[in-house]
Amino acid sequence: MGKFEQDKAGALRRYCPSRAAHRLQDVSLEELWQSGKRLILLDVDHTIVKWGEEEFSAEVLDWVASAKAMGFQLRILSNTRHPKRLARLSDKIDIPTKNGKFKPSPEMYMEALAETGFAPEQAVMIGDQIMTDILGANRSGIDSIWLQKMEGPEFAGTKINRVIERLVMSLLYRSTVSVESEVAVGRTTLLEKPIVRQFLKFLFVGVISFVIDTTIRVILMRFIHIDGKLASDQWGQGLRDAYPAVFNFATKPSQAFFPIACVIGSFVATFNSYIMNRALTFKIKDKVDAGKQLLRVFIVNYTGLAINVLVSSIFFRVIPGHPTQSAIVASMAGAGVAAIWNFVGQRYFAFRVHKRI
Ligand SMILES: [Mg+2]
Repeated sequence: MGKFEQDKAGALRRYCPSRAAHRLQDVSLEELWQSGKRLILLDVDHTIVKWGEEEFSAEVLDWVASAKAMGFQLRILSNTRHPKRLARLSDKIDIPTKNGKFKPSPEMYMEALAETGFAPEQAVMIGDQIMTDILGANRSGIDSIWLQKMEGPEFAGTKINRVIERLVMSLLYRSTVSVESEVAVGRTTLLEKPIVRQFLKFLFVGVISFVIDTTIRVILMRFIHIDGKLASDQWGQGLRDAYPAVFNFATKPSQAFFPIACVIGSFVATFNSYIMNRALTFKIKDKVDAGKQLLRVFIVNYTGLAINVLVSSIFFRVIPGHPTQSAIVASMAGAGVAAIWNFVGQRYFAFRVHKRI
């Protein structure tokens, strides 16, 4: 657990947590007990369970069981607008909840103290939000432990609080954290940020899809023979005979078939992108909306293909120098813009998770 030197927080004192930890299971119960804590107040969403979900992780259940076994009193303080879900969670984990004005009002904190008979110094609040959990604890004279929010979506109103939280915490980190505890208080490096990791996985899937696309094209164009002759030549000839007006661009029969090979390759590659990104990048487990997601991945990726062609063409015209060099740079620019388009499209459109509470 990282420590904040609250005395150095100045004007931001009321927003400054006492401690910080990555996850609930990183909070040392022995340390809390030794420092005289007997009452643990817990936030719900992104502290003990993901927002909107009702399944506790084994680690959270173990931690709660240990706390009870050691003799701690526990209470849940939640700002939820879904009292039925809260009641189910409270039952499941067997910790009473408190009603009262929403955090950061001290009301629920004070009620928990009154009910258990402990002094503020004997209590500790554990939560993931500075503007509610931590501010409320400070206003009640109770120590607090700030947790890193769990991965996953959250309530729209919370996102506004997060903007203020980031600003406040960036100021607090400068003034109140000693260098050696900096890692422990959960500052994440760029590579640890979920969206960056997601994008890297997405690029990995993109490379695999590119290899699949190219392999299919090469196989269709060069490796399939019918009666000892290249199939692409025969299919291309068939296309030229059937639709002379459409395929008159082809000087050789196989050229007429090339666009068809590209369409087949990109189709299979896009299907691969759907399967792999769904499972690996965006980790969607349930089957709900699978068909809709597939359709949306196709819409996003084919729009991305059009953007790729457009951007590459524009760059190819404006970049000076040898045509080969210009083509390489233009293709890279097109692929880069399309990759960002596809990632944003898949993340926020195709695989966007709608929570049902
Ligand atoms: Mg929370």
